[in-house]
Amino acid sequence: MTTNEIMKDLEPLTFDGLRLERPIIISGPCSAETEEQVLETARGLAAIGVKVFRSGVWKPRTKPGGFEGIGMRGLLWLHQVKRETGMLVATEVATREHVVAALDAGIDILWIGARTSANPFAMQEIADALKGHNDATILVKNPVNPDLELWIGALQRIYNAGIRRLGAIHRGFSTYGKHLYRNEPQWHIPIELRRRLPMLPILCDPSHMGGKRELIAPISQQAMDMGFEGLIIESHCNPDCALSDKNQQITPESLNVILNTLVMRDIKQSTENLAILRQQIDQCDNDLLEVLSKRMRVSHDIGVYKKEHNMQVVQTQRYDDVLQSRIRQAQEMGISGEFMSTIMQAIHEESVRLQVEIINNSKDDTK
Ligand code: PEP
Ligand code: MN
Repeated sequence: MTTNEIMKDLEPLTFDGLRLERPIIISGPCSAETEEQVLETARGLAAIGVKVFRSGVWKPRTKPGGFEGIGMRGLLWLHQVKRETGMLVATEVATREHVVAALDAGIDILWIGARTSANPFAMQEIADALKGHNDATILVKNPVNPDLELWIGALQRIYNAGIRRLGAIHRGFSTYGKHLYRNEPQWHIPIELRRRLPMLPILCDPSHMGGKRELIAPISQQAMDMGFEGLIIESHCNPDCALSDKNQQITPESLNVILNTLVMRDIKQSTENLAILRQQIDQCDNDLLEVLSKRMRVSHDIGVYKKEHNMQVVQTQRYDDVLQSRIRQAQEMGISGEFMSTIMQAIHEESVRLQVEIINNSKDDTK
């Protein structure tokens, strides 16, 4: 069964007749700090037309000693936001107790953070707590590590608990060391998620992905260009004084500027020219497959030769020569060296796998 068949009856994100349409914008502070900060931020966001307010009340922090959230009290402030502004409200849950408290407080959307979605025990505990609450709306962030199956598994646990208003949030993936992004986008992962689960709404979180204010606009545009359904962006009435993630929070006014400059392209529009270009792509992919299959056949024959002559599979010098020359050649042809290196490494890995199989399997050398 494909994943698509498993999660086939997902429902749109609708609340009492209000259907969240693309682009769905969720915004609010990283953390609820004080009642005043929550309400002031919420008023600013309501004034620019934001329909869904976010705020963490339980904060997963990398190290102990930081601000770990205001806890249950924050749920009352979120309720106040809902009453005063009419916005829907969302918060992060990580345990059974969080789920029960958030649902009891009338929180409209619960999201599951990246550290929690990486943990199947925690995901199952949350799914069990959600059983019987079929009208809950749940968004699952990608796990901190770039593992699509783990992300789908987390979504599936929630789906199996009976939840049909389900969405995913792409917030990027952890890497070691300093990089431009706080969390690397690795766009191919949400793209593959979209291919596997076309009905699942995907939102992008440019705040946690970029980790800095100036990256929010370009990442948001990129996510919209890729057809994501919406954005979850951290905002604060006084970002420089925020108790968590202050470098990535923006004021509601700055959010308004970013949203007004977002270009929404019509992702469904398909022109005749595009159809012709797509046919060309199909042809190119076909040619690529033919050549790849030929290369693998030759690689197979090399494997048989190496077995007959008792030679080792990986010949490091030869591999390095091949890699370097192909990268040079690619660059001369206007293809990025980094891209070529990734492709050659994948091809080499598959060739080695094939040859190791031949060396360990006596019936193969007669082929
Ligand atoms: C958050 O949204 O405040 C948060 C903690 O995000 P993440 O789980 O993506 O780190
Ligand atoms: Mn945050």
